[in-house]
Parts: sequence; structure tokens; C-alpha cells
Amino acid sequence: MAGLELRGVRKDFGSVAVLKGIDLSIADGEFIVFVGPSGCGKSTLLRVIAGLETATAGDIHIDGAEVTRTAASDRGLAMVFQSYALYPHMSVHQNMSFALENMGVPKAEIARRVERAARMLRLTDYLHRKPGALSGGQRQRVAIGRAIVRDPKIFLFDEPLSNLDAELRVATRKELAALHAEIGGTMIYVTHDQVEAMTLADRIVVLNAGRIEQIGTPLDLYNRPANLFVAGFIGSPR
Ligand code: ADP
Ligand code: MG
Repeated sequence: MAGLELRGVRKDFGSVAVLKGIDLSIADGEFIVFVGPSGCGKSTLLRVIAGLETATAGDIHIDGAEVTRTAASDRGLAMVFQSYALYPHMSVHQNMSFALENMGVPKAEIARRVERAARMLRLTDYLHRKPGALSGGQRQRVAIGRAIVRDPKIFLFDEPLSNLDAELRVATRKELAALHAEIGGTMIYVTHDQVEAMTLADRIVVLNAGRIEQIGTPLDLYNRPANLFVAGFIGSPR
């Protein structure tokens, strides 16, 4: 059974159909990247998976259990956004531990998880700093750390690196790949950056106007694009 399964997922906003029937089966531990032009529905699809929007039709299963109407907080997911709203008055450590304290996770367990995430993200020396005293790349790593400490089954990333400069994007992208190798969770990652897609993905999902044009490995899409849209999208400079 797939880690995440979507069947016939549709999402309308009023009379506008944004997702027009998404069928998708993602295995445990896969790194999946959604690509497609601006406005094609990537963020909406991620938010429907996360439970931040309710699907108009279709169903969603995680580890074989239907979660279509399950609250976001009960889906076992963690989401990292492009604009990483850290709490400015809290230290890095507090930013990472805050949600766990509210969830009633024991103190020793929180300390263990924060330490581990900080080590993986090279934030150990910065745990007592406030976000204002960090670089953009460090702040984004704190946002990723906040997701890691929740120990989710599935990570959802919505263009997490798009606010970083080119050099930092490359460095953080490599860290994400290393992170996936170390934690092994399922990762679903939205980007409009083809290099990110081609280097991070086990499989890429190409979206266009609310439908899936093609699903395949980076090599599949490069060598055997299903149609001109995919060929144009994969081949074009960003
Ligand atoms: P992408 O992330 O691929 O750029 P989005 O999923 O953000 O695209 O948006 C897809 C379409 O859905 C856009 O036309 C957008 O305007 C519309 N949309 C997204 N969220 C809402 C909303 N809450 N209400 C109305 N329309 C929305
Ligand atoms: Mg988006």
C-alpha cells in the first residue's frame, strides 16, 4: 500500500475548478517533486494533501487510512512554506520546541529531537539566538527543523528555497537531499526550479491547469516526455 494515495481529487473555489481530477500514488520514503507553471494548482494540491483545504471531490489515503476529512493536525504531516514565519521573540530552540510542548511531548524527548534536528541542519551553535540574528539560510533551516522535530510521516515543502539567493539555494538543496537520505520520510516538494526538481526527485509530477501531464523519474521526463507541454517545460530555461 502506498504511503499516500489520491483518487480523483478535485478542488473548486466557487465556480473555478483548480484541481480537475488528480490520481497519484506515492510510496513510503519517496521524494516527489511537483512542477508546473504559476497558477497550475501546485500549492492547492499540497494544501489539500495537508488538510488546509478540503477536497471538493475524491479521496485521500495515508498509510491505507482515509484522511479526506481528517483535520490537518491529525494527518501526521509537517509543512514548510516559502515564507517561514518564525517567532521573532523566541530563540531557535524555542521555535523548534514550541509546538511539541503544546502537544504534550515529554521534555526529555523534546530535547532529544531538537538536538538531533539541530545537528542535521548545522544549527547546534545557534540554538540560543533569535531569528533576527540569523542569516536567511539559517532561518530557512530553522523552519525545516520545526518540521523535522514533529517526526512526521510525510513532509510537504512549498517552494521552500525561493527566497534564498542562488548560492544558498544550492547549499540548502544539498542539505535537503542529505536530510532525506538520513531521515527517509516521504517528501513532497513544490518548486518551479527545474534544477531542484531534476536533482532532488525520485519522481516528478508535472502539473498543468489542474491536471497531471506526466509522472516519471527525472530521466523518464527528460528522455521520454509524454507531450509537448512536458518537453517544453522540462527543456526550457527557468
Ligand atoms: P501554484 O501554486 O501552482 O502557483 P495555486 O495552487 O496557488 O497555484 O493556485 C491555482 C489557482 O487557484 C490560481 O488560479 C489561484 O488564483 C486559485 N486559488 C488558489 N487559492 C485560492 C483561494 N483560496 N480562493 C480562490 N482561488 C484560489
Ligand atoms: Mg504556489
